Amino acid sequence: MNPKSHEVIYDTLSLLNPITKLKYINPTLTKDCLHKNACFERDEAVKGIENNIYYCPHCSKPATSLNDLVADWRVNAYKEFNEYAEDVTVISGVVVNKYTRNKKRYLEFFTQTEYMNQFKQMFERASKDSSISSLIQKELESKQQNLNNQQKINFWSFCLQDRVKINIPVRIIGCKHYECYEITSLLSYQDQNKLKKEFLECNQPGCSNRLKIAHRDYTKQSNTPKSPELDEQEKIFDVQTLFSGICVDKDLLTAIKKSNPSSYKFYYNYIDKIIQEDIRIVNGKQADPFIEKIYQQHPDLQSKVSFEDFQKQIQQQAIAITQGDLLQETKELNKQVALYKYRNYTVNMKDKLTQLTIEYPIRCRLCKDLKVCMDMRSFIAQVNYKKKMFPKQGYTCPLCNSQLNQNITSMNISKQIYLDSNMLSYMFKDMSYTNGTQNFEYKGEQYMLQEFLDRQKIKRENYIAKLTDRKVLFKQLFCIVNKDKRIQKPLILQNCPVKNIVDFTSFYEELKKIDFDYEKEDLILCKCSVCSFIPIKTFVGNIYFHEAFYEALNKLSKIEDLKNCTEFSYQFEDTELESKVLNNRAATTNSKIKVVLPPTGVRDASNLQNVTGEEGFLDLMDDEEYQSIFRKTEIQGFEFRTQGLKQNIGGIEIDYQQQGIKANVKEAVEKINQNANQDLKRFQFNVVGMSVELKGDILRQNKGEFSYNIKQ
Ligand SMILES: [Zn+2]
Ligand SMILES: [Zn+2]
Ligand SMILES: [Zn+2]
Ligand SMILES: [Zn+2]
Repeated sequence: MNPKSHEVIYDTLSLLNPITKLKYINPTLTKDCLHKNACFERDEAVKGIENNIYYCPHCSKPATSLNDLVADWRVNAYKEFNEYAEDVTVISGVVVNKYTRNKKRYLEFFTQTEYMNQFKQMFERASKDSSISSLIQKELESKQQNLNNQQKINFWSFCLQDRVKINIPVRIIGCKHYECYEITSLLSYQDQNKLKKEFLECNQPGCSNRLKIAHRDYTKQSNTPKSPELDEQEKIFDVQTLFSGICVDKDLLTAIKKSNPSSYKFYYNYIDKIIQEDIRIVNGKQADPFIEKIYQQHPDLQSKVSFEDFQKQIQQQAIAITQGDLLQETKELNKQVALYKYRNYTVNMKDKLTQLTIEYPIRCRLCKDLKVCMDMRSFIAQVNYKKKMFPKQGYTCPLCNSQLNQNITSMNISKQIYLDSNMLSYMFKDMSYTNGTQNFEYKGEQYMLQEFLDRQKIKRENYIAKLTDRKVLFKQLFCIVNKDKRIQKPLILQNCPVKNIVDFTSFYEELKKIDFDYEKEDLILCKCSVCSFIPIKTFVGNIYFHEAFYEALNKLSKIEDLKNCTEFSYQFEDTELESKVLNNRAATTNSKIKVVLPPTGVRDASNLQNVTGEEGFLDLMDDEEYQSIFRKTEIQGFEFRTQGLKQNIGGIEIDYQQQGIKANVKEAVEKINQNANQDLKRFQFNVVGMSVELKGDILRQNKGEFSYNIKQ
């Protein structure tokens, strides 16, 4: 590439000859030309030089020999970009597909020095390790897949933040998934949110990585008084902070540049080990199935325009739509889509005009039913057909029948339709609709729960770190909204003075009642003196998933006898495996091991009468089920053998060994007598013993919790 193209800081340039509107055959400059926006044909210059001298038609620099001619940057661009690309954007010497996004909101960063410095450095330090191809290769190696049985790996390159088509792909350092971000979306997000929050939580379901977007937490007051210089300095730190947490994926960028500028769909090429656009090729030429189908439906169109030209028009118009302008810029639309984010609904994925399965789900700005969509290419192709054949008519949306424009020729399609960002987030995760019913189940409730688990929760480790005593008594086991509902998935109300808890299912029901519009309607979950006056307007800062309580509830639910308890104690240890429900509040019945507990509270004679004593050892050498626990077990190639385990039930230590169960019953009885209250002592009540019995299947229940010791 002509080294001078590095001088272009930020500009959009055409790849075409402005006069012919075609690509140059051999784009050339003189070695002294400094302009990037135009060049000339080499042949013309050669002719001029044959007649002594050639002057550049743009800057009049002379060329007197062939050595004075150099290749224009377009020579490389023609190789790097898709045949349909007409305009490109150059940022600090990096040439990418043209950005059509809102300049003020997404592109102005590229005119500011620190952004440009960081942008350049990001490209310089880009490593292959963080590229999508190497992520895929690593995963394939770890799976050790049979080379003859390779499944097609598809990848949809839209931004995890705002679902626009990615132009410059960047990855948060540490993310292990293929999905990544569009750089302008991240910069814009930082610009609008850094004063409110220090981090952007990665949006990929199941990923809890995050990106620091502010160099300090602005919500906490700074001691230094504000000045314009300081503001500027802080901004520079913030830009540096963001860039230090991301890396550019050059492999994906190469694939995106080569692909059609409106295309999302890529696949992994096993042979070349690279990521490539997933397109349909017929007779050596690209043929989009949606556009082809519309074209074939209209013989009248075929006599007026060639398929190639028709396809090209549609793909050009699709670029702006995939960059998401309408949805991002229109507040009402944005809100309408946001209100559907957590609903459950079914979408028929059969495209209305072509009967093919929708891949780019769009609808018009006037469509009211968000459960209905059609494919972007099908819609645009239909508009182009009508424009060509019936230019004097208006245009009505095939989905909702609203008139979008009175005169189709003046209609700008990128102002009429938008891609559904909710659908794009999930429709590629479960693609079972591609065969059979063609119905896509949008599971908003499940996605919402996943978001709580990924991003909106009090982490177990943080909760435990704040405990002074790791034994916690959980007293609220029923939902604050629905008093009959036992809490299963606890959401804690952070600003409630008594920290009341709502079950996720009831919470979701409450959202349904107000049509998910908690911005407009009052969402009040707790009726306490504080909460009843402050409706919840945002989840952040208000409602969090309680990971530690969830763990405790889960363990509790596995203990048959405690299913109906109204409170319980839980002992938190470093790991979930070691942590346990403390069984001190209820007697265990119907279980293989029955411990008759020392009576608590007021003791009377009847409580103590039938407690009999014996030495607590039961010979289990013949108990087949018990012995099976101690056999060798293979886990991932390692051999394990259970050496033994210990349990504490109601103050009685029970030691399970291969030979049998040892319980310190005697000791426990003595302890109870020692601690018995003085009144009882006076009446000479004396506990004479307790018994340990084997019944039911507590051993089977506990199997999942055994810890294994590696056999020496
Ligand atoms: Zn020139
Ligand atoms: Zn991630
Ligand atoms: Zn419509
Ligand atoms: Zn409250």
